[in-house]
Amino acid sequence: MSKIVMKFGGTSVADTDRILHVANIIKKKIDQNHKVAVVVSAMAGVTNDLIQKSKKISDDFPNDEYDALLSSGEQVTSTLLAGALQKLGIKARSWLGWQIPIVTEGDYKNSKIISVNSKVLNESMDQGIVPIIPGFQGLSEENRITTIGRGGSDASAVAIAKCLEADFCEIYTDVEGVYTTNPAIEPKAKKIEKISYEEMLEMATLGAKVMQSYSVQKAMINDVEIYVKSTFSNNSGTHIAAEDKISYDKVITGVAYSSDDAKVTLQGVKDKPGVASAIFKPLYENNIVVDMIVQNISADNQKTDITFTIKRDDLKKTKSVMDQLKNELEYDHLLTDDKVSKVSIVGAGMITHPGVAYKMFNALSSKKINIQVISTSEIKISVLVDEKNTKEAVQVIHNAFGLDK
Ligand code: ADP
Ligand code: ASP
Ligand code: MG
Repeated sequence: MSKIVMKFGGTSVADTDRILHVANIIKKKIDQNHKVAVVVSAMAGVTNDLIQKSKKISDDFPNDEYDALLSSGEQVTSTLLAGALQKLGIKARSWLGWQIPIVTEGDYKNSKIISVNSKVLNESMDQGIVPIIPGFQGLSEENRITTIGRGGSDASAVAIAKCLEADFCEIYTDVEGVYTTNPAIEPKAKKIEKISYEEMLEMATLGAKVMQSYSVQKAMINDVEIYVKSTFSNNSGTHIAAEDKISYDKVITGVAYSSDDAKVTLQGVKDKPGVASAIFKPLYENNIVVDMIVQNISADNQKTDITFTIKRDDLKKTKSVMDQLKNELEYDHLLTDDKVSKVSIVGAGMITHPGVAYKMFNALSSKKINIQVISTSEIKISVLVDEKNTKEAVQVIHNAFGLDK
């Protein structure tokens, strides 16, 4: 008998038929004598719909009410699923975030879970009552409802698995596991049997939304084993586990992409000490996260260009911050582009294999795709390209590294 946390994503609970189907998956686990706690997302599209509604009310909808509003999507699915299980003769009840409670800290919209009262959940399981917990929800120390960031039900599941000391956490979704790239844009993508936390964290951070990146970080720190699998088939999924349990037979493990970045260039800034710090200080003060950075070598030791990328949502704020710097910095031009996307390769294998960057750049060149910015870490290389080249770039790189084999 194992103790398992099972999490079902939005498409898996998209309508009442699917909720009944999910109840049957849970029943099978119970029939095998496992102890189970369940975490659910809102029905597909519901959270987006609630966001649109808040925008229709006001451009400046209050953050505290926004979180209380958004958390309602998960409440609906948890109660429907508890009812569906009872219909199958399984004792179950919904446990809302505030009833447990799942305590969070930090800002609304992006709170972080700091504790889960495992006692009530364990008692429920010991009494043979399956707790059905809405993901995404939290309670602040000021007793207000919070939410933990888009895609956050994954992080709820991992946090609950950790606090319950579950044997593992299963993430049920609409694909059969983690693939070498998003199968929606590369049909030749292959399912990965085992992937390390480190690689999964890079993939998720770089755009593979099959797992929310914060949830992977939490799993890595707390050693929570994860299986990502499909709600709609019985096939084995992807096991996310510690690096020492993985053998690396491929140079790279996967290709990820994101299209929520924007590029900012300051042309003609003075080439002297203190300039970079003067640019990045107000960005930091305004909570703007900078990702890729390049500074051109100045030809005349007088002036240079600095380019960096930020989240697209931060572009307006960044422009105004840079405009305010104009007098202090005396740069020539401010250029921005929000039609860019970041394509990345990830893999621990690249540490020991030479020529990985060459192979990636060569693949892009074969399709005449221009690289605008490059950044690297030990186990990833990212390039910024024109957004319209995203799909072609992912496919040609995927093919060049033989990931379809
Ligand atoms: P859920 O609602 O179950 O949380 P998500 O939509 O958040 O599901 O994540 C699943 C989706 O992630 C898939 O439908 C797929 O299109 C996308 N995806 C992106 N990159 C990958 C990848 N490398 N492997 C698998 N799926 C991926
Ligand atoms: N419903 C939330 C969202 O759409 C959380 C989740 O599904 O994981 O972001
Ligand atoms: Mg998700």
